[in-house]
Amino acid sequence: MRLVSFGEYGSRVGVVCRDGTISDITGLIPAGSDRRHGVMRQVIESYGEISSRLVDLESGGGGQRLGSVTLSPPVTDPSKIVAAPVNYLDHMEEMHQLSHIDSLGVFLKAPSSLIGHGGIVHLPYNNRRFDQEGELCFVVGRVARNVKVEEADDYIFGYSVLLDITMRGGEDRSTRKSFDTFTPMGPWIVTADEVGSVDDLELRCWVNGELRQDARVSDLIWGVPELLAYASSVMTLYPGDVISTGTPKGVGPIGEGDEIVAEVSRVGRLSVTVTSSGAMFSVTRGGTAGPTQPSDEEPG
Ligand code: MN
Repeated sequence: MRLVSFGEYGSRVGVVCRDGTISDITGLIPAGSDRRHGVMRQVIESYGEISSRLVDLESGGGGQRLGSVTLSPPVTDPSKIVAAPVNYLDHMEEMHQLSHIDSLGVFLKAPSSLIGHGGIVHLPYNNRRFDQEGELCFVVGRVARNVKVEEADDYIFGYSVLLDITMRGGEDRSTRKSFDTFTPMGPWIVTADEVGSVDDLELRCWVNGELRQDARVSDLIWGVPELLAYASSVMTLYPGDVISTGTPKGVGPIGEGDEIVAEVSRVGRLSVTVTSSGAMFSVTRGGTAGPTQPSDEEPG
């Protein structure tokens, strides 16, 4: 099942029906839900209660056309976005790094950096390099604390596509990756039952139609269960939390007017555009520090 957030500030949740329309399920959220949470979080929290009705709606349809609504990020208010720093060996090599997730652990991106499918990435500075990083992400379905690797699947609600937009340089990752609009996600969440095993999923990312990234999810250093288990040993994970699995080789610079498309087979195709309108001189001076970025001439 595919679930979308739409409406003002993502205040509606819908099932994408087989006929390509959206069935608005916001009204099905049980009365006892925690109304402090965004509606998708409430749907995830009460999914066991309402899922059978959603399956019926999926084969019905007849609502608004998917293409006629502006999509929000599937989860508008995750308590956190956990991300993997270097989780493909070929990306470690292109960044001239000597260590990967096994020694780095995970990092956080600000939830306020989320935007939805069709959104606009705003580059804040005119004297810094910014790159696209296409990634598979997953959404946590249940409160998770110290989960074992072999039990991790029980805690995954579903999958989505995420762009971890990144400023290169020596600043902390949480700064370089948390500017507003730096976490496009979507277009939807596909529930885990529909995706099945992630081992044969393929991840691709294009900028202006040029294929930059092309990888198999099975090449992850830490797979999805290992990531969830490790993250849950550090911090309690809550329904709706987003965990992004990391990017393969092929990151490269982005700029004004670029169109970025990231696609994961059986999950979805996410596209955004980029603007540098209003960009200013960087406040910090990390541009010549940090990991050595892949050269502009060899983005592949
Ligand atoms: Mn990344």
